[in-house]
Amino acid sequence: MSDVKRVYKFGNKEAEGKAEMKNLLGGKGANLAEMNLIGVPVPPGFSITTDVCTEYNQLGKEKVVGLLKKEVEEAIAYVEKIMGMKFGDAQNPLLLSVRSGARVSMPGMMDTVLNLGLNDKAVEGIAKKSGNERFAWDSYRRFVQMYGDVVLGMKPESKEDIDPFEEIMEEVKKAKGVHNDTDLNVDDLKQLVVKFKTAVKKTTGHDFPTDPWEQLWGAVCAVFDSWMNPRAKYYRQMNQIPEEWGTAVNVQAMVFGNMGSNSGTGVAFTRDAATGENLFNGEYLIDAQGEDVVAGIRTPQQITKEGSLRWAKLAGVSEAERASKYPSLEEAMPAAYKELFETQEKLEKYFKDMQDLEFTIQDGKLWMLQTRNGKRTAAAMVKIAMDLLREGQIDEKKAILRQEPNKLDELLHPVFDKNAVKKANVLANGLPASPGAATGQIVFHADEAKKYPVTILVRIETSPEDLEGMDIAKGILTARGGMTSHAAVVARGMGKCCVSGAGGCVINYKNRTLTAGGKTLKEGDWISLNGSTGEVYEGKIATIDPELSGDFGEIMKLADKYRKLKVRTNAETERDARQARKFGAEGIGLCRTEHMFFEGERIKAMREMILADDEEGRRKALKKLLPIQRKDFSGVFEAMDGLPVTIRLLDPPLHEFVPQEEANQKEMAKEMGIPVEKVKQKVEDLHELNPMLGHRGCRLGNTYPEITEMQARAIIEAALDLKKKGIKVLPEIMIPLVGSNKELKLQNEIIRKTVETVFSERKDQIEYLVGTMIEIPRATIIADKIAETAEFFSFGTNDLTQMTYGFSRDDAAKFLPIYLKKGLLKNDPFQILDQKGVGQLIDMGVKKGRSSRKDLKIGICGEHGGEPSSVEFCHRVGMNYVSCSPFRVPIARLAAAQAALR
Ligand code: PEP
Ligand code: MG
Repeated sequence: MSDVKRVYKFGNKEAEGKAEMKNLLGGKGANLAEMNLIGVPVPPGFSITTDVCTEYNQLGKEKVVGLLKKEVEEAIAYVEKIMGMKFGDAQNPLLLSVRSGARVSMPGMMDTVLNLGLNDKAVEGIAKKSGNERFAWDSYRRFVQMYGDVVLGMKPESKEDIDPFEEIMEEVKKAKGVHNDTDLNVDDLKQLVVKFKTAVKKTTGHDFPTDPWEQLWGAVCAVFDSWMNPRAKYYRQMNQIPEEWGTAVNVQAMVFGNMGSNSGTGVAFTRDAATGENLFNGEYLIDAQGEDVVAGIRTPQQITKEGSLRWAKLAGVSEAERASKYPSLEEAMPAAYKELFETQEKLEKYFKDMQDLEFTIQDGKLWMLQTRNGKRTAAAMVKIAMDLLREGQIDEKKAILRQEPNKLDELLHPVFDKNAVKKANVLANGLPASPGAATGQIVFHADEAKKYPVTILVRIETSPEDLEGMDIAKGILTARGGMTSHAAVVARGMGKCCVSGAGGCVINYKNRTLTAGGKTLKEGDWISLNGSTGEVYEGKIATIDPELSGDFGEIMKLADKYRKLKVRTNAETERDARQARKFGAEGIGLCRTEHMFFEGERIKAMREMILADDEEGRRKALKKLLPIQRKDFSGVFEAMDGLPVTIRLLDPPLHEFVPQEEANQKEMAKEMGIPVEKVKQKVEDLHELNPMLGHRGCRLGNTYPEITEMQARAIIEAALDLKKKGIKVLPEIMIPLVGSNKELKLQNEIIRKTVETVFSERKDQIEYLVGTMIEIPRATIIADKIAETAEFFSFGTNDLTQMTYGFSRDDAAKFLPIYLKKGLLKNDPFQILDQKGVGQLIDMGVKKGRSSRKDLKIGICGEHGGEPSSVEFCHRVGMNYVSCSPFRVPIARLAAAQAALR
């Protein structure tokens, strides 16, 4: 074990790690190393590997500190040498930053400690050496606060509790009658440190640790601990990040942004993370340290002059005020700005992607603290990739592989109807932090985001604790904080509409009110947000469907160029079919006919059929349904205009069509002119203990062949009608829930006989196929037999998952969340195909099916057909197409292209 390397050093343009080592060093650590290698100024330091995090969770604190000790001591000596300072020294103390850094970035989820190494002696040494007493004490009070919160567990746990340090800070500011932290003088800061330490003693029962080494080990362990904190766990679950990955710990020499007016700190993006525009942008604060920018404590200033002018316009700040109070970095520190600008260009060219940067300027000198591929909205994801392609920085394949298919969802959802917006009342303006349109009822606390069906989370500012509520809410509005505030960054990552820093909003958590634009809204009132313009509106606003144009259209064209799988849609209405075609669907893979039987007169005819005592009665009712079905099919066929359409025969158990409640049963009896007892009796007869496995699927058509006859007739008649009009139709009749070839054969015979009858009646013909769904495990096992009859297979992975796992689709919600939480399942198998289990059955079904029918057409129509990892699986097993809901068609097209390129 002792020859395992656990610590990787970097500094002075040298590094033991490199960018490719993200798995071991975390994203931050790997790129800190790489930045050294390409000559970007980075404070020296070292990364403790992600493997140590796993060891830490297995072996515990003491053992791991023992394993690390020698290497860490060596690494500190290395940093001391470069910096010409000494850790723990009284005159010339080296201070450290300790930051987390997982393989993929998890913004704000884990912990950080800055200014580590300070104590009552070191603070004097720093004051003397820097000649800046205020800076020394400001750093010290920050350190005690951060260490207290992060390492000593003083961070408030619930929303009712206030951070004890913040409370003290507010008292001191109030007593002095000042507003900003920067207005506190040396004596105030000294007083703060004493008060902070007293609070530590009171809460923890121990003195604040003065030994720098004790501080360091405390901070390192706290970062490892933070990997397992609830918000990090939730973030991992949301983004499917495995727990085994662990976090690295990055320890670096501190550089100081709080050394006065020639110092500062900020974050920047090489391109616009919201729109993708090729515009360097970001925010910074003068005389501040790292966390201040994202915490939303002070209003951050813009880095470029152009950004600053844009910001002032949105925030309603006059040019005079902007230039004097909020100048850009470009104006305030031109030399440092120039170096930053050149560095960002260099980094983007090097990494060939939009970079998210953190920097600090210490007394005019620029230091880079981080670079990583920036999180972005879907619009920016698409635009940046296409721009980089056009600039010749990446090729087509890279441009496709850079897309996160699921993220496209953001671009496929409605935007505000222009006319409705014109009439809406603007309550306030904020920053367009994350685009999109959202309408919902106001909630003020993240843990209440579920209080109404659709909510808008309204906060003064958000913090990592709010993550779950932010995920649930439709949109997020904050009164404070900039484009890089927690709310903005997290919302963009989630693809959630967000307006941040709407200064005109006054939020009162206690009374649960939002006052803006002269109105006071209460919890539960409706508001609307436009995350693309920053506008906040009163009330609900109607939305319209988006279009696939511009760069989005281009990336889709590229996807089509590379993918092998066809993409169809699941649709049963003309409207959905047309929408899906706009999104590029190449046919219908599943038309669930039962959905057509619910509206108006249809349900009556359907019920009449169900209540009939004999075949004759059923046939009479089916006669009424025939023209209705024919019309439905015509609409869908016409919308698909020559593309194949798979129509599935009736599948659900009949009890779904009759009322279960007494009042409704009475109404039905009255409408049909029969005694209520008869209705009640029928409902009872139809009752099933597990309707998902009862009298449904082809079992219906085999017990009541007249239903199959009617549906087959309606399909073929509609197709022939359209043929007459010159519209090509390719019907594929699909039989559900087949478990044996005999079941399929009987249905096949009924269908073919009916079709022949229609052909001779009409004296016309059309090509059609008869196939089956493969959704019962037995069907996959005897797929070779089934393929003797079936002309196509469509895997119904909803039922196949249900029956393979033995999880009832209707009841799984009761235990699935717990199973996910306990790690008994990695994913919900109804959302993400279980490739190991269900996947084996599919693979076998494909192989066996094609063994008896070489050209068997095979697709999938369960929910998995639009889920990227499942689409990739379908590509691998050699399916011909996937079919998914209309809004997932573009996602599936992209996922199919990525599958072909991987
Ligand atoms: C399936 O089982 O996967 C399927 C598509 O059919 P349904 O969801 O209608 O049962
Ligand atoms: Mg099914």
